[in-house]
Amino acid sequence: SCKQRNDGERTRKAHCLVLTYPTQGHINPMLQFAKLHHHKGLKVTLVTTHFLLNTLQLHAGSSKCNIALETISDGYEEGGFATAESTDAYLNRFWEIGPQTLTKLLRRMSSSEYPVDCIVYDAFMPWSLDVAKKFGIFGAIFFTQTVEASFSGGDEEILIPGLQLPLEAVDFPSFLCDLGSYPAVYDMVVGQFSNVDEADWILCNTFHELEPEARPTIPSMYLDNRLKEDKDYGVSLFKQNNDACMKWLNEQPKVSVVYVSFGSGAELGAEQMEELAWGLRSSKSNFLWVVRESEAGKIPKGFVEETSENGLVVSWCPQLEVLAHEAVGCFITHCGWNSTLESLSLGVPLLAMPQWTDQGTNAKYIMDVWKTGLKALADEKGIVRKDVVEHCIIEIMEGETGKESKECYEMEASG
Ligand code: UDP
Repeated sequence: SCKQRNDGERTRKAHCLVLTYPTQGHINPMLQFAKLHHHKGLKVTLVTTHFLLNTLQLHAGSSKCNIALETISDGYEEGGFATAESTDAYLNRFWEIGPQTLTKLLRRMSSSEYPVDCIVYDAFMPWSLDVAKKFGIFGAIFFTQTVEASFSGGDEEILIPGLQLPLEAVDFPSFLCDLGSYPAVYDMVVGQFSNVDEADWILCNTFHELEPEARPTIPSMYLDNRLKEDKDYGVSLFKQNNDACMKWLNEQPKVSVVYVSFGSGAELGAEQMEELAWGLRSSKSNFLWVVRESEAGKIPKGFVEETSENGLVVSWCPQLEVLAHEAVGCFITHCGWNSTLESLSLGVPLLAMPQWTDQGTNAKYIMDVWKTGLKALADEKGIVRKDVVEHCIIEIMEGETGKESKECYEMEASG
């Protein structure tokens, strides 16, 4: 209903700015959202930081998907977050300079052919709404997580309206139970709600069947952000060699490969990496393991050579394509919300190894609500040992859990 705007003399497409927080896991769902709305006939401009735009191998502006790109500044033009003194320093600077540069951008656009009508902004950046209001335009907050993880909190077992089962402390988003460790992140997470009531819309990256109970709790919600048949976000902040990876996958038998990835930010300790590596080896499954360049030093000596017959280690891969591949039978994941959603959408059983933030909540839902996989049990040091890794892989690839997960997926697919 808002697709067309009337500027007195002419009717034009409504113009929506989609403003992303500059990490892979936040850009992907918002780019998908942008593509979907472009497809539906809106004029859409994706906005990210200067540094990120230079880094991206971005296809969003290609003829395939004609989305315009613009930038604001986080104050770290040369190297982005990696060059900041600390997370606090990064966020303080970004929060100071971001609104100023967004204001400049809107001012410039207000005299262009397509003045901005609405800003859809990542929930991490609530100041975007203040800027939107100054210009008298709509503001929609976009939570890149589940409704459950976005709107829950507490420190004992508790049943929150809209959640499907009680959560224990361990299942809550980690920043809520571990306040002292990441003060800047905690402030940012809590800050998401500072002006949420003033937003014109609240958007969550989810779909109704996953969180049916959340809908009555938060009625004004966008519920279908899926662009079917889209196996390529078109954005990668990491170097990848897609051809080698897909060639290897094409050579593997159906449902024989364990895909392992901990997303764009999680860092495993050296001991955990070792346990995971040896667990993979003893499961005797084929595996494709994404180890980012910055993590590569933690792969145990000799592991890559010893397992080269049945395994491939890469520094990044086209994950959507990998999960859609018929060779993949299990996904060992940190349960980032994008990875979880992608795996659920493509019917791949999950082995959950959550690390922090909302990942514990997602792992709880994977195992206990959606029943689409297992959560690997950690020992008292918080480490998932190699025999647990091995056991869980076998259970998913050959055992009852794998069968049950597939049944759940099939039931869902048949409606
Ligand atoms: N991803 C990818 N290639 C990889 C690993 C991850 O394209 O080798 C993508 C993945 O498809 C997902 C995003 O990176 O869309 C990671 O987001 P997620 O929320 O799962 O985790 P985060 O990186 O935010 O921790």
